[in-house]
Amino acid sequence: MLSTLEPQLDGFTGSVITPDSPDYEAAARTPLLPSTPALVLRPRDVADVQRAVRAAAASGLAVAVRGGGHSFAGLGTVDEGIVIDLRALDSIEVLDGDRVRIGGGATWGAVVQALTPHGLAISSGDTASVGVGGLTLSGGIGWMVRSHGLTLDHLVSAEVVTAAGEVVTASTVSHPDLFWALRGGGGGLAVVTSFELQAERLSTVTFGTLTFPATEAAQVVTGWAEHLRTAPRELTSAVRLANPFAGGVDAPVEVTVAAIGGDADSLIDPLRALGTLQSDTVTVQPYGEVLEEGHVLPPGIRLAVRSGFVPPESVGDAVAEVVAIAVAPQPAAIVLNSIGGAVADVGPHDTAFAHRRAELMVTTFCGGPAPAFDGIRAGLDGVWARLAPHTEGAYANFLDGSSPEARASVHPEGTRRRLEEIRAEYDPQALFARRSAS
Ligand SMILES: Cc1cc2nc3c(=O)[nH]c(=O)nc-3n(C[C@H](O)[C@H](O)[C@H](O)COP(=O)(O)OP(=O)(O)OC[C@H]3O[C@@H](n4cnc5c(N)ncnc54)[C@H](O)[C@@H]3O)c2cc1C
Repeated sequence: MLSTLEPQLDGFTGSVITPDSPDYEAAARTPLLPSTPALVLRPRDVADVQRAVRAAAASGLAVAVRGGGHSFAGLGTVDEGIVIDLRALDSIEVLDGDRVRIGGGATWGAVVQALTPHGLAISSGDTASVGVGGLTLSGGIGWMVRSHGLTLDHLVSAEVVTAAGEVVTASTVSHPDLFWALRGGGGGLAVVTSFELQAERLSTVTFGTLTFPATEAAQVVTGWAEHLRTAPRELTSAVRLANPFAGGVDAPVEVTVAAIGGDADSLIDPLRALGTLQSDTVTVQPYGEVLEEGHVLPPGIRLAVRSGFVPPESVGDAVAEVVAIAVAPQPAAIVLNSIGGAVADVGPHDTAFAHRRAELMVTTFCGGPAPAFDGIRAGLDGVWARLAPHTEGAYANFLDGSSPEARASVHPEGTRRRLEEIRAEYDPQALFARRSAS
């Protein structure tokens, strides 16, 4: 097959990895999934990406674009197809006006390392090994989300290679329709070779976790949600309960807080008073130190991840249901993220991320070895049958791909139709669309 692609790959300076290459297994898999692509192409520069895209188009095989490879649904790889792995496009350059140009294959850990010495930060997720690409193209919900908004709200422009192999810059003034779609469309439009993002002056964050006994879940989670309803946007927080790896029904309720600006004690003290505080790790820390390291999943372990947004009118019912689910045996850790704040400053039609009025996001995480996994999945379906009446939509970055209904709800109907039109314009043969998050 490789020989038939030689004309398109002529001049390709990156790595070409086939099943015969010694590094194939490591190159084929993502941190979450084993995989068996026919070919992994690792371009070194934009011209290489153009060659890779033309070769992939000529091959007739399915194509996956890989940023950091952390898609729960495995969208950064494709069995028997071609993976365009962007890891070598990892440059990070601070520009005038605190703008930052980031290569399409960089990770958030590399970004914080590069920005911390400049006293800068960009709203991102919570994990260092996650890619800038996938996270930004679907949203970006982390410890700066209420204070500064989604990652994609900071996108100023993106340089892309289209399905035709052409280099295009998307921004509010250049290909504005593509720019709209890149901000929340979930990829599947073009290969983003670099993102230009607006960074914030930020060096420290008051960050840590408060834990409470599982028996106080109802009062803690209800009080947490009430506090976040009116708390200033300087406070971002998440609650985790029923973590199966920490005791399931007996797992402590973990309230993680991030206060950026404002009076941190007055933001956080009401949360400390919600119950019997068992531990409190909250300290002032460099923002660069709050991101966690990701892990490569052990062989045979599968993950199930599902999410939904909670609109303001459903917060009370959703919280009550989450607590009722958490106090009985079931397979998932349940996380509630506070949203609102700066996320709601942007209109629902201004970007392809439409869930702007959500106050909370609820996500369930569970996993296990393949033989037990079907049972785990069935338990999770039961959990979502109870959560569904209180949630709407889904966050594309927190979906494992197993639920077509959840995937279909990532975008409201109008957003979906507009995305489809833009995809048809920029990728008429659907070269990338099959491995997109929505
Ligand atoms: C341990 C862990 C922690 C996480 N924490 C958070 C969190 O705190 N907040 C949050 O919002 N999300 C979080 N996520 C979810 C994460 O944002 C998504 O999994 C995201 O899709 C990963 O992006 P990636 O580039 O690493 O993945 P990939 O698998 O490489 O890509 C995901 C999708 O984006 C596309 N894509 C990636 N880069 C490009 C590019 N340059 N050009 C075009 N398309 C591209 C891919 O084709 C694919 O469709 C977490 C995931 C994990 C595994």
